[in-house]
Amino acid sequence: MRILKMQSKFLDVFLESLNKFGNLYGPTYKNKVLSYDRLANISDLVLTDEHPMIPIKKLFHPMKFTMLHFNEMGFTPDYSTIEKRVILGVHPCEIHSLLILDSVFMREPMDPYYAQLRQNSAIIGFSCLPTENSLCFSTDTDIVEEGFDLFFVNLGEYFLVWVGSSLGHDMIYEREEFFDKNVTHDDIQEYVEWRQKKNKMFKKSFEFDSMPDIMELSYESEIWEEFAKICLSCGQCSMVCPTCNCYSVTDVFDVTNEQIGRRDRNWDSCMYVDYSLVAGGHNFRASRGNRLKLWYGHKLKTFGKDYGRPGCVGCGRCVDSCPVDINVLTISEALTTKEVPEK
Ligand code: SF4
Ligand code: SF4
Repeated sequence: MRILKMQSKFLDVFLESLNKFGNLYGPTYKNKVLSYDRLANISDLVLTDEHPMIPIKKLFHPMKFTMLHFNEMGFTPDYSTIEKRVILGVHPCEIHSLLILDSVFMREPMDPYYAQLRQNSAIIGFSCLPTENSLCFSTDTDIVEEGFDLFFVNLGEYFLVWVGSSLGHDMIYEREEFFDKNVTHDDIQEYVEWRQKKNKMFKKSFEFDSMPDIMELSYESEIWEEFAKICLSCGQCSMVCPTCNCYSVTDVFDVTNEQIGRRDRNWDSCMYVDYSLVAGGHNFRASRGNRLKLWYGHKLKTFGKDYGRPGCVGCGRCVDSCPVDINVLTISEALTTKEVPEK
């Protein structure tokens, strides 16, 4: 992989020049909340160690959109959400989460909406330093080696820039004058020191590698019912987790002509009580304990078996968000502690 150097003073001009490749998106403040959105100006981009509250999945697996329009003659897919985009400021764990979502949505039969949004989006990654609840060192997702077009590591006065695709090469070629091919021994040392400093900044960790085994052993554990006593079934954990990908599909009929309508798709959560309710009234996961077990089974065990990558990328959002403190840290701690914690 090609690695170049760019002085920090060129960053804004270079990023702005990428609008030639598509509309610019990235973390920006919307109603005082950091969020991935379209950038009207490059000055709206917020490059920070904090993650946007809602992960990057919202740009590829939108919260709500219309899949198709139908009438008595047939249907027409609605691809109006597809556009050329360049997504700036994407952290390593978010890139890992997209690689996981690729395994889910791009396997056969491929999801055409996700696939087209992916194929039309460039990913410009940026390094970050751990925040209070970052767990990506435990999940080995703090560094990324694929899944981006360009990746910038911030070394203060300059960036080391990894070029990850032919599109990334084209972007560099447009403003070659900003880039220096000569990465020196001193630069490598600076990078090594940056990694060492970053590794020492993590405040929290968990035994991620042993979790698949522990989850298997804990299928009948009492801890699921203990956590079930306090879980609110609010689904917030699913909304903020970058690898959660469930959705529901609803046909919405025209009020004046029931032959005409549209099919909408909305995020859903297996933590909701009616998620596994089927025709005839049977609910496969009526109990909160079973739903919690399913959710954490996906994050800590099953995804790895099914897709070759574990379902948790250590972003820490479940730690930030769950109103009653159910998250990968508290679950893994409870599963590996001798006493069953009373909730
Ligand atoms: S685990 Fe927490 S965030 Fe998730 S549904 Fe239960 S209360 Fe809500
Ligand atoms: S389980 Fe929690 S820490 Fe892991 S990816 Fe999901 S929200 Fe992030």
